[in-house]
Amino acid sequence: MFWTDRIVEKIEVWRKDTTKPLIVRDEKTMSGRAHVGSMRSVAVHALVSEVLTEHAIENSFKYEFNDFDPFDSIPPYLDASFYKEYLGKPLYTVPSPELGFENYAEYFSAEFITVHKKAGFYPSYYRATGLYRSGVMDPYIKTALERVADVRRILKEISGSEKDDTWLPISVVCEKCGKIMTTRAYDFDGKTVAYACDKKITGITSCGHTGRLSPFSGGSKLFWKVDWAAKWGAIGVGVEGGGKDHSTKGGARDVSNHIAREIFGEEPPFDTPYEFFLIGGKKMSSSKGSGSSAKDMADLLPTQIFRLLLIGKDVREQISIDPKGDSIPRLYDWYDKLAEHARNGDKDDYARLYALCTPPKEREALTTPWQMRFSEVAFLVQMPHLSLHKEAKKSKGSTLNSVELDALEERAEYARLWLMSYAPEKYRFVLQKEMPKTELSDIQKKAISSLYEFMQEGEKTGDAVHSKLHTLKEEIPITPKELFSALYRVFLDRDSGPKAGWFLSVLPHDFVLKRLKEAY
Ligand SMILES: [Zn+2]
Repeated sequence: MFWTDRIVEKIEVWRKDTTKPLIVRDEKTMSGRAHVGSMRSVAVHALVSEVLTEHAIENSFKYEFNDFDPFDSIPPYLDASFYKEYLGKPLYTVPSPELGFENYAEYFSAEFITVHKKAGFYPSYYRATGLYRSGVMDPYIKTALERVADVRRILKEISGSEKDDTWLPISVVCEKCGKIMTTRAYDFDGKTVAYACDKKITGITSCGHTGRLSPFSGGSKLFWKVDWAAKWGAIGVGVEGGGKDHSTKGGARDVSNHIAREIFGEEPPFDTPYEFFLIGGKKMSSSKGSGSSAKDMADLLPTQIFRLLLIGKDVREQISIDPKGDSIPRLYDWYDKLAEHARNGDKDDYARLYALCTPPKEREALTTPWQMRFSEVAFLVQMPHLSLHKEAKKSKGSTLNSVELDALEERAEYARLWLMSYAPEKYRFVLQKEMPKTELSDIQKKAISSLYEFMQEGEKTGDAVHSKLHTLKEEIPITPKELFSALYRVFLDRDSGPKAGWFLSVLPHDFVLKRLKEAY
């Protein structure tokens, strides 16, 4: 069973009150440009929401941009001398890197929204500051402050984290310097808390100010694990998963579950932990700014392929992609394999995934057009004298319909983009106009001469050339490596290339004959 269907079945069993609409929630702290790995969480929640809807379970997907957390490090792509003074302040008070955005968090949220849209995910958005200012968090803040001894006990018992007797589970914004990271709140009198701006944090100065303020209606922010549990209650969250790193025993989720039950007296939402998302084998963090940003990846892939990357793997498996390696052509091949199952009318996980790669709105009108393999399209777009349409028609064996032509054009556009950006050297080809300087062995020459005789009979299909190359191995005899490297050498001046039979069939026939003759 496809992972989302399995999760939704579990949710149906778990859910006791079947009339209340379910709220699916996810959140991201907007500390900088979102890394593509952040999209896994968005995709898990968005897809669960989509499948719940399919099962006629009323639900909504709410996505929080956390703009209340502190600005704790300056991403390498920003001017450190400008941003230094904002370290330690809440994100909503940090200026946007560009004009036209209310603040730093809004700037990066806007970019991340375009990525969600590219994937066909349309959650309803809200901001952490809006939630706190609305007052819905106030009863939870009050309870957490009144029962702080129990909060401290839970933290110690579950995660082993010890807090001193004055510690309160909130942080306040210093009225003098505007920082949230450097303040220490204590002494709750039922209406206000005392605080001192005196925390020692490397690289961030505290101003020493002391005062009292109301922690309610946006005056304070609960610490993460308490904040998480409070939001579940305040919003009425029914489904919310977390990354594998937060889902261990004694981890953030475990602590928040205990706080939800023991402090707020509410059941935590249905949990659906998910595995890591690796780029080039590494787990990247968005604040480091290294690796591929969500925006870069969204720009590189059409919607269906982007969705496949995000939802194709079971939540229990890691996603691993290396845009500088074979990952991109493999993603397309994977998609084409799914399409084949759909075309055959299969009712399996492949066909299911194929359908889910298209956003719900367009899913009903979904067709499975014939598609040329991505690696072939990528090769053809590099051969200026070849017509992509003509070769596609030859490859399909009949004229392409308008849907297939559109699909071909789209693939060509994304192939060009990939070739200009991440494509590794082995996918970049230049057809050699002149015979390259190369030393072929007598055996290689003999094989090329035999191939020339065969090609001289007339234009051949890729399969026919492929079969001929196969027989040459025995006939000459020649090892496949020697044979193929000779062919790639004389046409592309390199040792590897696309499937040789297909490649020789798409090049202009006269050119192939001329070059083969020159080579032996
Ligand atoms: Zn201060």
